[in-house]
Amino acid sequence: MQGRLSGQVAVITGGASGIGAACARRFAAEGADIVIADLDRSRAADVIDAVDAAGRRAAFVATDTSSEADNLAMAAEAMATFGRIDCLVAAAGIASADYVSGGEPEQGGAAGRPVMSQPLADWERVLAVNLTGVMLTNRAIAACMMQGGNGGAIVNIASSAAAIPLRGGADYCVSKAGVWMLTKVLALELVGHGIRVNAIGPGFIETPMTAVMRSDPAGEAAMKRMTPMRRLGQPEEIASTALFLVSEDSSYLTGQLLFPNGGMFVG
Ligand code: NAP
Repeated sequence: MQGRLSGQVAVITGGASGIGAACARRFAAEGADIVIADLDRSRAADVIDAVDAAGRRAAFVATDTSSEADNLAMAAEAMATFGRIDCLVAAAGIASADYVSGGEPEQGGAAGRPVMSQPLADWERVLAVNLTGVMLTNRAIAACMMQGGNGGAIVNIASSAAAIPLRGGADYCVSKAGVWMLTKVLALELVGHGIRVNAIGPGFIETPMTAVMRSDPAGEAAMKRMTPMRRLGQPEEIASTALFLVSEDSSYLTGQLLFPNGGMFVG
């Protein structure tokens, strides 16, 4: 059976965990070969197995997306392995400067990092991964798409926090608002090459990034209180949105940010 991404190659940063991993699984099920660009190969084993089980090829490329050299090397390796890149999901991200997947709280609340007392190095670290890193990945992959001459589709994982100010989360909110604007500017700059650039602003999603908040009943209740559907989203629900944005179903959409967030009003 033909999938919606049959014959395509997708690069997914942060593809070893959470939202990126769900995108890798879903895109492979739809017929795409997958390049997983993430920090730690050992955390990608399950996703690679899932891509194999779907009958597609997976390549893991160790990549720190905040490094331009790593992004360029990753793009070159993807081209050398598969010969083309059709779509990108830029999902690599951190909740805070000291965030380790599943190991640290998503400090988006009042107890987070007030601007007045945050060490500059922590601010710069969040911006380096969440904003500069997304820009570096976008341009490394877009260059390959331009070279291929077949257009392409880029999806950047921002956050509803791009539009909702969170006390104690200025670094995260600003990085995601930056990704939103980057998406709009790049959409204009790349439209002539047939490359569409869109973004997703998830609400609270059940991934390692929210694990510590979910483990505290008060944290879980706070996330549900902010969400009109009164539940957290599943990473697969973000992968569905990403699939829509890379597929022909969204062929007239570029420069947009979609908010799968259970009904939170984002203005
Ligand atoms: P996650 O499970 O922690 O996944 C993030 C992935 O990114 C991890 O595999 C992590 O690797 C990788 N990563 C971190 N820094 C990297 C770097 N410099 N270079 C390459 N890879 C890096 O969290 P998630 O919830 O799926 O988050 C995915 C994206 O969604 C993030 O951009 C996040 O801000 C955004 N988002 C999440 C939520 C939510 O509620 N979960 C809501 C809105 C937006 P390691 O594990 O090895 O560190």
